[in-house]
Amino acid sequence: MEHTKSQAAFEEARQYIPGGVNSPVRSFRSVGGVPPFISGGKGSKIYDIDGNEYIDYVMSYGPLLMGHVPDCVTDAIKAAAEKGTSYGAPTVAETELAKLICYLVPSMDMVRMVNSGTEATMSALRLARAYTGRDCIIKFIGCYHGHHDSLLVKAGSGGATFGVPDSPGVPKAVAATTITVPFNDLPALEKVFAERGEEIACVIMEPTPGNMGLVLPHEGFLEGVRAITKKYGALLICDEVMSGFRSAQGGSQSLYDIDPDITCLGKVIGGGLPVAAYGGKREIMQMVSPAGPMYQAGTLSGNPLAMAAGIAALTYMEQNDVCNRAESLCAILTGGLEKAAAKAGVPVQIHRLGSMFTVFFNNKPVTDFDSAAASDLEAFKIYFHSMLEQGIYLPPSQFETNFVSVAHNPEDLQKTIDAAEIAFAEVAK
Ligand code: PLP
Repeated sequence: MEHTKSQAAFEEARQYIPGGVNSPVRSFRSVGGVPPFISGGKGSKIYDIDGNEYIDYVMSYGPLLMGHVPDCVTDAIKAAAEKGTSYGAPTVAETELAKLICYLVPSMDMVRMVNSGTEATMSALRLARAYTGRDCIIKFIGCYHGHHDSLLVKAGSGGATFGVPDSPGVPKAVAATTITVPFNDLPALEKVFAERGEEIACVIMEPTPGNMGLVLPHEGFLEGVRAITKKYGALLICDEVMSGFRSAQGGSQSLYDIDPDITCLGKVIGGGLPVAAYGGKREIMQMVSPAGPMYQAGTLSGNPLAMAAGIAALTYMEQNDVCNRAESLCAILTGGLEKAAAKAGVPVQIHRLGSMFTVFFNNKPVTDFDSAAASDLEAFKIYFHSMLEQGIYLPPSQFETNFVSVAHNPEDLQKTIDAAEIAFAEVAK
């Protein structure tokens, strides 16, 4: 494959944009090499500026459940753009998308639109703090909720201790209000609440984390988190920015029958445009300005193009059984990948949920961040580059989730499995 144009584009981008990218994982830093610069996409495929074609399993990191440029969404965006791109005044489309979301995710009585998942989780934390009058929050190690200060924190030594900032620039005082606990470890959570329950405003969790690769909750874990938060008067925030409409139509909360106080959504609800939302129980949401005192606002929040895309995407999804269809395709793919890895004798743990999956290069079960981090990153690199050169575009990190859309057809899946046979054989060498 030729990559000369992407190489030149990357070099130029690095002169003007830090690291050449507007979000770090895109730079391929953890796998090395030059990221293809994308010129367009259609269905399951993307094309780079060197003229290469790839079957895409990044799907914009989740939003593109119907693949690239689905007619229903594109037509809706075009029609909205003809009328006006932003007003700073209410539109009926905002209520329409809010109603759709509340219908699809029954734990949400009311919803506020924002522009990114980061904004959604940041606002949800403020709301939980405002509602409970408490300052501390708990997050699980390895869960990503966006890049704002309170949540850019992973483990202090020993896990359930005062937070340590993950990035310079996060004030220590802010990080200190974030307590981190290993995922799937109920006793650790119980211990923190027993010691500091009265300070804790909320637990925020990805119910089915996708940001350490896809990790699944142990039986009873999510129910346990719900019970503990209730017991101590803390709110439970389900961050379903990734898992919403991916793990199942009603998100992971519907799969595991969890009733959170607040839910954060993003990705799929924007149909590929920048939309996210937070919402939940009416009594709590009534705290949000101007209904209540907790301030949160946005010049472009509820943007008409984004609302049109979101309404079109969710309506099409619901009427065409998209989540189940994408899940079936994903199951075929992961079944094939499992066989291909076994044939090459490469130990992997393949996790799938709905239309999401991760291939961990690991010979032991992956249940939390530490076990995910023990994966063979060198093996992942070989696999990743072999797949890329065979025209299969995967997320460039072991700690990301792959996404299948309904635009992936059986031929795409078979090509991917065939490519993986070669890639696993290279890993085994
Ligand atoms: N929450 C989760 C679970 C995510 O996966 C992400 C992004 O990947 C975010 C929040 C942040 O969303 P955004 O990148 O739109 O700010």
